[in-house]
Amino acid sequence: MLIDILPLKKTKPPIEDESNLVFGKRFTDRMFVMEYDSGRGWHTARIQPYAPFSMDPAAMVLHYAQEIFEGLKAFRRDDGSVALFRPADNVARFNRSARRMCMPEVDEGFFLDALKQLVQLEAAWVPRSEGTSLYIRPTMIANEPMLGVRPADQYLCYIILSPVGAYYRGGLAPVKIWISDHYVRAAHGGTGEVKTGGNYAASLFAAREAAAQGFDQVLWLDAKDKRYVEEVGSMNMCFVFDGKLVTSPLSGTILDGITRRSILTLAEEMGLKIEQRALSVDEIFDGIDSGKLQEAFGTGTAVVVSPVGQFTYQGRTAKLGDGKTTGEVTRKLYDTLTGMQYGRLSDRHGWIVPL
Ligand SMILES: *Cc1c(COP(=O)(O)O)cnc(C)c1O
Repeated sequence: MLIDILPLKKTKPPIEDESNLVFGKRFTDRMFVMEYDSGRGWHTARIQPYAPFSMDPAAMVLHYAQEIFEGLKAFRRDDGSVALFRPADNVARFNRSARRMCMPEVDEGFFLDALKQLVQLEAAWVPRSEGTSLYIRPTMIANEPMLGVRPADQYLCYIILSPVGAYYRGGLAPVKIWISDHYVRAAHGGTGEVKTGGNYAASLFAAREAAAQGFDQVLWLDAKDKRYVEEVGSMNMCFVFDGKLVTSPLSGTILDGITRRSILTLAEEMGLKIEQRALSVDEIFDGIDSGKLQEAFGTGTAVVVSPVGQFTYQGRTAKLGDGKTTGEVTRKLYDTLTGMQYGRLSDRHGWIVPL
């Protein structure tokens, strides 16, 4: 399939102040769009001016949430070039999500190519200051107008780009985590491992309750025993115990994070022993009490790693150290991964894809 490149009528001014970019609020001049009809397949692939869609109020995504998305970044490297981080992994995960939501898959080679072409055309929007990037959001929605409950026959797939500021301005800042003993995010057999909007809609109520009590994020426990760590917001969790890195296994209820995967590889190379296993809340609190648990952090594309300063569960709070200092392992992993992304460290794994 050929990609039509439609002309831009006017361009927005470039980013004036890179220190003031709010996550996901500004978008570049162009977007990629293609359409699907069952029988015909994907068609009308184009890179066109960024613009609102006109949608039928009965479009199925608006009623039954047949939707998937991805999130990855393009980085401005120290030599001025632009590179993507493991983009093929995102495209493969997009298709896994599509299958689970009964949506059509995309051709992975074609889609990756479309994504690269779009970023190339918009390369001037990749910011230059430390810690900034261009966030890439592939999305697929069911847009057939129909109120019956079944997989749609028509879809829209698009990619939009948003320049984002440095997540950490004053250095890595540890967060306060609330462990929910009531709300759950995903159960076995459900859609926990799918990157679909519905998982997020379902998480908002608990997140608001946590925020009202002064916490930054909710840590979800497993739906069956409400004992074992699942993940946090849009991050997978890692725990550092005396030379070991413990993280929840991919058992279908958590997202298979690409940052998680990368961190596990880097941690192993740093000499840590990796354990992918169930970790209970008791083990966290006992570990902090005894000093055996030294560090905890979340991993995800937006933050890279986010150190945890304290956990609160059923009214009891345990702090990691003074609750304000980022641990050594966390910092080293952050520096190594971001070093590769920004071109300061060599990429031994073939994770960096130059444009
Ligand atoms: C996207 C996401 C993550 C992190 O995945 P990355 O590929 O590392 O960005 C973790 N948890 C959830 C629920 C997510 O949606």
